[in-house]
Amino acid sequence: MDLLPLITWFKENKRSFPWRVNPSPYAVWVSEMMLQQTQAAVVVPYFQRWMQRFPTMQALSNASSSDVIKMWEGLGYYARARALHEGAKKYSCLPTTQEELLQIKGIGPYTAGAILSFAYQKRAAAVDANVLRVMSRLFALGGNAKSQGFRKEVEAIVGAILPEKEPYVAMEALIELGALVCSKRPKCHLCPLQKSCKAHLLEQEELFPSLPPREKTRLLSRFVPLIECDGFYLIQKKNQEGLMAGLHQFPYFEMDEVEDKALFILKKLKIKADYLFEIPSVCHSFTVHKATLYPSCWQTSKKIEIEGHEWISLEELEKCALSSGHKKILQLLFSLKR
Ligand code: SF4
Repeated sequence: MDLLPLITWFKENKRSFPWRVNPSPYAVWVSEMMLQQTQAAVVVPYFQRWMQRFPTMQALSNASSSDVIKMWEGLGYYARARALHEGAKKYSCLPTTQEELLQIKGIGPYTAGAILSFAYQKRAAAVDANVLRVMSRLFALGGNAKSQGFRKEVEAIVGAILPEKEPYVAMEALIELGALVCSKRPKCHLCPLQKSCKAHLLEQEELFPSLPPREKTRLLSRFVPLIECDGFYLIQKKNQEGLMAGLHQFPYFEMDEVEDKALFILKKLKIKADYLFEIPSVCHSFTVHKATLYPSCWQTSKKIEIEGHEWISLEELEKCALSSGHKKILQLLFSLKR
């Protein structure tokens, strides 16, 4: 397939992103980790802040884990931040082969391909969701586009069609085409590859890629007691593992377990607390969950020690990394106090 029209289109239309200015292996790695599950426009300020704070792998390896998590706060999927930190501690610079890159936690075939292509300028396939979509349409590829077999098939085709000269430009151009033109609803009239696209010639663009049904969103309702004593709030200690590892949160409970809130607090946290007032509910989404948090303010007279919890002032809590829902609650609390 002749990719020249695509390359010409890319040079005229590519978006400017900070990670495209100096695509060092480290910058590509950081940006690709941030771009997983997050839109490019959202990532830009996070990337700039991160590179200012940790400009090199050395600087990242010397940082404390709470600093790293704090810089990631708001992006979600904190395992990615921990993986970057861990990787920086192990390597002074990133390896140059796919086999070695895949040994690093959090680096999968796409990120390895992106580092090899954009940073090391090798003839390597970096197949993300954009490329899967574009290739499935260009070649009218059937089969489950989420399967490993499909990905391997696409990787092989991409590897074969990338030009010898500046393969990294063509690779990035394929990704950009998927992001800007060959999106869910393709804008074929703008596409530089229109004449060679099988799905387009068959007028079946929207039949590709073939995807299995999406997992349903799970709704959660949570009671979040904000228990205060002398200006300090009861906070769950950071988990070391799991989805919310490294994050602080107010205590929370599934709403359907709660009948009488005061009694519930007494039973679960062993605290006798007086109800003050409700504050507005907040929503946040993570993985396939959509949670609605129902916070209310409570007061107690003694900071008793509770396993897995600590007492923290709002000012201190502001410096800690919180999950996005609990950060919204903290902001509400501040707005009530100020
Ligand atoms: Fe996608 Fe349409 Fe271009 Fe084919 S012609 S690659 S379907 S935008």
